[in-house]
Amino acid sequence: MNRKLWLALILALTLVVIVGLIVVSTQRKTVYSGAVEDFLLPVEEYSWEREFAPEYVMIHFTSAVVEHRDDPLNMDYIRQIFVDYDISVHYIIDREGTVRCYVPEDRVAWHAGKGEWANDEKYTNKMNHYAIGIEIAAIGSQKDMGIYLTEEEYAALDDRFKGFSDAQYDALKLLVEDICARYDIPADRDHVIGHQDYSPSKNDPGELFDWSRILPH
Ligand SMILES: [Zn+2]
Repeated sequence: MNRKLWLALILALTLVVIVGLIVVSTQRKTVYSGAVEDFLLPVEEYSWEREFAPEYVMIHFTSAVVEHRDDPLNMDYIRQIFVDYDISVHYIIDREGTVRCYVPEDRVAWHAGKGEWANDEKYTNKMNHYAIGIEIAAIGSQKDMGIYLTEEEYAALDDRFKGFSDAQYDALKLLVEDICARYDIPADRDHVIGHQDYSPSKNDPGELFDWSRILPH
């Protein structure tokens, strides 16, 4: 083989390797490297194609307390709410700290709803396009839950459903750190935000949530 042919071959091989590395790195970028279980919602019905890179992480809490007062954090009941109400989110963390994936990160999930952020109109009612959403299975304070429960109903709930477990904080911290690192999102309160920060009519993650357990001080 002559020299030119060798050079062409080496060039072609180098290109193949570079393209391969790019493909692998972009694929890896949208997948959480920690422990995660798939509970995917039907993607075509519960998400859109993503056009923009994520710039934010949005934290929520959710429960099935309205429908199932005695077993509000049952993960089957909670998943059914997402199905019934045509909403979705990328991840949900159960009481034991298991991270479940409902929608892949490279899709737009439907969790943020209407709101405003950072005095920038591009986010107005469009935060779903820019945020990775994480739900925590939990019940907030009485004030947080006021739109769902009367004072008496809240008082009658088992206390172990209220607030957030250590396992949830530990899992959430790892997940948020991983997402922030992969998308170059600053791990601070301007970029890791609560649903209530974006939509003042919302109450999650609420006043029981301790931000210092997931973000650097
Ligand atoms: Zn929310």
